Amino acid sequence: MGTALTLTAIQAATTEAHRAFQGVTDGQNADYIPVLAKVDPSRFGIVVMLADGKAAEAGDTRSLFAIESISKVFTLARALDTVGADGVRQKIGDNPTGESFSSVHALVVHGGKPLNPFVNAGAIATVSLLAADSAAHRWEQILGTQRAFAGRDLEVMDEVYRSESATNQHNRALAWLLDSAHTLYSDPTEATDVYTRQCSVGITTWDLAVMGATLAAGGINPVTRQRAIRAEHVPRILAEMTMSGLYDNTGTWQYEVGLPGKSGVGGGILAVVPGRLAIATFSPPLDRFGNSVRGQLASRQLSAVLGLNLFAT
Ligand code: GLN
Repeated sequence: MGTALTLTAIQAATTEAHRAFQGVTDGQNADYIPVLAKVDPSRFGIVVMLADGKAAEAGDTRSLFAIESISKVFTLARALDTVGADGVRQKIGDNPTGESFSSVHALVVHGGKPLNPFVNAGAIATVSLLAADSAAHRWEQILGTQRAFAGRDLEVMDEVYRSESATNQHNRALAWLLDSAHTLYSDPTEATDVYTRQCSVGITTWDLAVMGATLAAGGINPVTRQRAIRAEHVPRILAEMTMSGLYDNTGTWQYEVGLPGKSGVGGGILAVVPGRLAIATFSPPLDRFGNSVRGQLASRQLSAVLGLNLFAT
């Protein structure tokens, strides 16, 4: 689908989206993880990267922020390569919950099955599915997968990890609820800690675009030319992003943007046009669902101006 886009047209649209929404001050930084409340809310970056690695950018695209829930995409990638699509669907699920990302209610009403890998319970269960003989081994696989997608040696932001570890009682409770329902596959404390670490990894908007371009390119990182995930799993990841990537606001996102997407409470959003490109945005203030306000506005405008909506005929 779609006509070929020139990099010049993409750069013009990227610059314009940044200009148009730079002044928006709606939304608030996440504050249930104290360190995230301290990030400068005026930071705003956009990168649009083609599947061959050519890119356009505007604003603050090179400073680090916490990957948070966008990390769930890459742990899912690793789990698909480990236990296969049927294993993930049977043990985690592949449907939206219709509830907030940390809902206990959603877990309880479904007998402890998290329903999808992008709510916190499902993401912790996905961590537990990896084949590992120690916490270090589990962590190596997750960080290794994030690095393969980004094409560089990403690291944990220690201050984020400390802040999140000190305040993640709710996630620990979710892990124990999973465990009690026999839907967790490793030690609950270990799974929650590794999950907290994976959310604390620092990325730039540029890194996020490379990670998305790797998905757009069928699993081959356009920078390193290395395969990060088996090609057959890419459509499954994009399907999950399409259904649940922006939590209980995913329907609105699809209505307005029409692309697989994934947000994080650090302020990042990734959108992917399969076979073509990725849009990465970063702006910390969030709406009540936990999705970046300016990121959604910029993604919507770029999708419209560049004709990227997958549901358009
Ligand atoms: N680490 C965050 C949490 O577990 C991630 C949530 C998010 O980005 N939506 O609550």
